[in-house]
Amino acid sequence: MPTPLERWRNRSPGDLDLELDEVCRTDVDAAIVQAQNGLGERWSRLPLKNRIEALRKAQDALKGAQESLAMGICRETGKPIQEARQEMTAVVAKFDFSFQDAEEHLTPRSVGSGPHPALVRNRPRGLSAVIAPFNFPIHLGHGAAVAHLLAGNPVLFKPSPLAAAVAAQYARLMQSSLPEGVFVPVQGGAETGSQLCTDPRVRAICFTGSLAAGRSLSTAVASDIDKEVALELGGKNAALICADADLDLAAKAIVDGMTLTAGQRCNSTSRVLVDQSVRDALLDRLIPLLQSIQPGSPILETTRLGALIHAAAVDRYQSICSLRDVEWLLPGKTHPIIDGKRGYFVSPALALLNSPPSSPARQQLVESEFFCPVAIVQSFRNLEEAVILNNDTPFGLTTSVFTRSETTFLRLAEEIQSGNIYANLPTTFSPSALPFGGWGNSGNHRPGGRGFIRFTTQEQALQWLKF
Ligand code: NAD
Repeated sequence: MPTPLERWRNRSPGDLDLELDEVCRTDVDAAIVQAQNGLGERWSRLPLKNRIEALRKAQDALKGAQESLAMGICRETGKPIQEARQEMTAVVAKFDFSFQDAEEHLTPRSVGSGPHPALVRNRPRGLSAVIAPFNFPIHLGHGAAVAHLLAGNPVLFKPSPLAAAVAAQYARLMQSSLPEGVFVPVQGGAETGSQLCTDPRVRAICFTGSLAAGRSLSTAVASDIDKEVALELGGKNAALICADADLDLAAKAIVDGMTLTAGQRCNSTSRVLVDQSVRDALLDRLIPLLQSIQPGSPILETTRLGALIHAAAVDRYQSICSLRDVEWLLPGKTHPIIDGKRGYFVSPALALLNSPPSSPARQQLVESEFFCPVAIVQSFRNLEEAVILNNDTPFGLTTSVFTRSETTFLRLAEEIQSGNIYANLPTTFSPSALPFGGWGNSGNHRPGGRGFIRFTTQEQALQWLKF
């Protein structure tokens, strides 16, 4: 007798007495067979316009359920409802960006400069696995899924087990608008994800998640050299404040960068690098602003800071906030009950790092993601030192420079080792209209935003002498 598949119910991180819908782990082999034997095989042969037509129906279905999905995200992840609504707006808009990108990328190009007439075209890769994190439980996996579907690849969509109930609702809507076997949800945790990705029938993977999991996954599939592996990993993102910066604007942007999604974004601000001549003036603005942002129930319209995802995240926050190599300007504080609800609530915390940390603390302060609303402040004497501090981390996702000089911005952008560099904007401001991807340990250069379609196909060159 086969062992029954495990079932679970998540509790709302912003209201631990609220239990969400039950979810059942998926049998990976059965899901792969479904994607192979369903219309999956024929999906890739449909003209692009028919695939777009089917996806427009999915877009309408998601639009119709936007508010209910936003509420699902808010309840299951503890993200404030306003942010959850923004996530769903981005999900619906993602279709239109992806249609444009697909039309451009999937159109064959003739080559006239060779010895014979020739054509270069992009062909589907086959079954693709999309592995999603908890913090944008729909949006991030959705972007990759739509691109794969447009390219003609059936999708096996594995959401985070921490957001399984809302992901199931999303998957039902996608499935009801698409032919059978084209979009197959796969529920489960790390083991299920690993089983899915290492299966030889799966030919492309888009993984968004932590460095540890991304590294383990890419090691596990390394011998399958033709398997496409796109990795979107973590960040240790800096707000870099120059002496000429608008300090009010910088302070507001740092607050956004630290507190949106309770600091649980890959592009959250966890380092503040500031010219020492304006350090105290910046802190005079930043500290009261951070003090004014206190956690609230995620379902309230007025809440700006929701809950952390689980008890282990609160433990990690507490361990960071107990580090001694730094001077705590705003010490950490946990709140077991907020607005009458039990949840994983914490306050923003800020620390000053005056000298290079000792080795064990260095690991936590400079080399690891915080993934909670905490930042360390370091000061520099000139732009050379600013660049050294910015690049002194194995991650390279986002840096936000604050300056009134375009020349300074462009000069810094030459030296900064980050995939995304912004001026006078929060590190979290990454619009879907732009490509998004990290350097170093933040990923393998694959834009998670605009243009993901490039990683869903393989190029093929055709040439002919005569017919
Ligand atoms: P996680 O790594 O714990 O899990 C992410 C997903 O991977 C989940 O679905 C999980 O079940 C699955 N998984 C775990 N181990 C696996 C394995 N060995 N093989 C296959 N699948 C596996 O991450 P999380 O806590 O859900 O999300 C937070 C992390 O994601 C942070 O590090 C954050 O920076 C990163 N992230 C990156 C981006 C980006 O675009 N760069 C965006 C969002 C989140």
